[in-house]
Amino acid sequence: MKKKDAEVYKKKLLKEKERLFLNLQSMDKTSLHATSQEGSGNLSGYVSHQADIATDIYEQEKSLSFMGNEEFLLEEIEDALQKIDKNKYGKCEICGIEIPVKRLSVEPYAKLCMECKKGEEEKKKSSDAYGSLQKNTRKRRGA
Ligand SMILES: [Zn+2]
Repeated sequence: MKKKDAEVYKKKLLKEKERLFLNLQSMDKTSLHATSQEGSGNLSGYVSHQADIATDIYEQEKSLSFMGNEEFLLEEIEDALQKIDKNKYGKCEICGIEIPVKRLSVEPYAKLCMECKKGEEEKKKSSDAYGSLQKNTRKRRGA
């Protein structure tokens, strides 16, 4: 990819990075706030509020896993930015072909071409097969 073209994606990536960063920061504040509220709550209400606390924990876990996704994305973006600096941007990490511009404009941090991505997803699916096998066994036992 020409450096001039890569600059366009660099701008996109930097913008996306900033957005994710701000997202993560605001989420951090929300979870800190929730924790300090719980800490100052009065103890006598503890038992009756257990259900509420469970919901809170669930909500916290949900936002934590969301944060995990965002952090993962941030890393992908970091990677892509480094590749631009090294003039390696826009190439599939598995087969080495140039990733189509159409794909990069949707996912500027894409590391694989569509073909290789499909291949990776197939691999993931087959490793999930064990999980569905277990589910079937449970069904049979129940009947
Ligand atoms: Zn490929």
